[in-house]
Amino acid sequence: AKGTGGNRWQWFDPAMDLAADDSARLAADLRTALRDDQFFLVFQPIVSLPGGEAAGVEALLRWQHPARGLVPPDVFIPVAERIGVIGELGAWVFAQACRQNAAWARYGATAPTRISVNVSARQLADPGFVDTVAAILQETGADTRRLLIEVTETAVLNADTAIEQLHRLKTLGLRVALDDFGTGHSSLSLLLTCPVDVLKVDKSFVSGDTAGRAGAIIVKNIIGFTTDFGIAAVAEGVETAEQAEHLHSVGYRLAQGYHFGRPMAAEAFEDRYLNTPAL
Ligand code: C2E
Ligand code: CA
Ligand code: CA
Ligand code: CA
Repeated sequence: AKGTGGNRWQWFDPAMDLAADDSARLAADLRTALRDDQFFLVFQPIVSLPGGEAAGVEALLRWQHPARGLVPPDVFIPVAERIGVIGELGAWVFAQACRQNAAWARYGATAPTRISVNVSARQLADPGFVDTVAAILQETGADTRRLLIEVTETAVLNADTAIEQLHRLKTLGLRVALDDFGTGHSSLSLLLTCPVDVLKVDKSFVSGDTAGRAGAIIVKNIIGFTTDFGIAAVAEGVETAEQAEHLHSVGYRLAQGYHFGRPMAAEAFEDRYLNTPAL
């Protein structure tokens, strides 16, 4: 069974993806995977601090490979971009998230069902991207106010038309988040031209390699200027209660990470966050 928590899946050996012929096989399998329905989404809560109630949820893509087991997106997304199937895969993800969004909207207006969807650099650079999004919105009847598109700084910086595409997404009623913030060598002036509603602070500053004194300085400065810009900030990769407390103490109101909840199947998310009995 696909299970209810990320830790119950069997991950494939990352060392396996290094060989070139292996990468070619992965590419071939990726085309089959789309046809054979081997993809599914898991959902990780984005919570309010300090209480930990779900304020939203990020959809994360999983590939259940018939022989390799679960292949991580960091491995297959770059391959999908390279072989040109990211458009098709991305459209599947967005449609699936829209259907989930419509299902969760039935839990009522207060349900924490704003869904964030990741969009890769290649997808954003595709001139047909916004039209695809608009078509899927119409087809699924999803409430755009309950959807958020996550793009990385690098994706925005690498495509000339990226900012224009983001403005068009905003016109459709979608919100935009800048993902992995702090890792992409962008300057703060990006926030003046880029229509950003949410900034997601990269996990390396919270619990990763750059955490500690340097991370603490970065994290504190980011909350300072996002507040001034009127942008919401989400701290990613929160793994401990101490990290959550520290983030809250310097002004963070939103966080995401294993400490609060791992990516989980849709049913598990419903059980934990949506099926709360009314008082
Ligand atoms: P991301 O968008 O930055 O997503 C957050 C990643 O951090 C997820 O990894 C999540 O499982 C992981 N994570 C969450 N909390 C913690 C924590 O407390 N500690 C640590 N160490 N990690 C945490 P995941 O699901 O393996 O996804 C990796 C990346 O793959 C994503 O990074 C995103 O860039 C990409 N990705 C995932 N789904 C999609 C998708 O549908 N489309 C596209 N284009 N990219 C996707
Ligand atoms: Ca993301
Ligand atoms: Ca991120
Ligand atoms: Ca990332």
